[in-house]
Amino acid sequence: MPTCNRCGGEFEAGDLVRHERQGMHYVHCPDCGCHLGTYNEHAR
Ligand SMILES: [Zn+2]
Repeated sequence: MPTCNRCGGEFEAGDLVRHERQGMHYVHCPDCGCHLGTYNEHAR
């Protein structure tokens, strides 16, 4: 379960804010908007 480094919140994967751009997935905290990770689509 992902944990935000800024606000310390724990979130279900489905609660995270996601953006998809040029084949990359950017994941952000739904509470504070902190960037939590970037995932290459091919690595899933
Ligand atoms: Zn946060």
